[in-house]
Amino acid sequence: MLEINNLSVNYGGIQALQDLNLHIDAGEIVTLIGANGAGKTTTLRAISRLVSSRSGQIIYKGKNITDLRPDQVVRVGVAHSPEGRRVLARQTVLDNLELGAFLRSDRWAVKADIEKQFQIFPRLGDRRNQLAGTLSGGEQQMLAIARAVMSRPQLLLLDEPSLGLAPQIVREILKTIVALNQSGVTILLVEQNATLALQNADRGYVMESGTITIEGKASDLLSNERVRQAYLG
Ligand code: ATP
Repeated sequence: MLEINNLSVNYGGIQALQDLNLHIDAGEIVTLIGANGAGKTTTLRAISRLVSSRSGQIIYKGKNITDLRPDQVVRVGVAHSPEGRRVLARQTVLDNLELGAFLRSDRWAVKADIEKQFQIFPRLGDRRNQLAGTLSGGEQQMLAIARAVMSRPQLLLLDEPSLGLAPQIVREILKTIVALNQSGVTILLVEQNATLALQNADRGYVMESGTITIEGKASDLLSNERVRQAYLG
């Protein structure tokens, strides 16, 4: 479904990604783990075209999307739920969800999809008219995921959905991610909590200094001595 070939990204003089290679098959949950600054967020931002690449290619469903605009990437079926949640604090839950569907013209189906999100995330339904800024951290994270899903993505990029949340909420969010995947959405999950991510993923990649250093089945990475020592605490 997605193939990244020799991708390099610079921020001025800083090389954030260097000859990165990875692929995601349709239906998978793939996780990207690594230390702070390894380049995980940049990888997601490069796929969404929020940062430009210096060299390399991003192929999505056989099409080169390396030079598309961010809105065109959403249009072809890739959604991004960014780190730090980034919900619109002064807008209601409903407004945030409608915003996630801004490229869609099927208003009736958008309404139905919003109700579907409220079934998946009942807490959001209870708070539909509340300003997003008044939600708890866990609820804002749920809203960020639901908002991304509103564009009906085939591939969903999730950046640190567990960041700063209590363990019970994290488990709830992970369960939702697995359920989304089972409903047909392919997922690329960036996570600091590597154990949790690998326990729920099909495959994983370890990133160090802007490139992939270890890759494999999630179950193999969980028992890999180097991964255990460096990332699984
Ligand atoms: P974290 O878990 O801390 O978010 P990460 O693995 O997602 O880390 P990135 O945020 O992708 O890593 O950062 C990769 C490298 O690029 C780091 O050296 C970082 O300092 C640098 N970097 C990231 N964003 C910018 C920016 N906007 N300007 C300059 N350098 C940046």
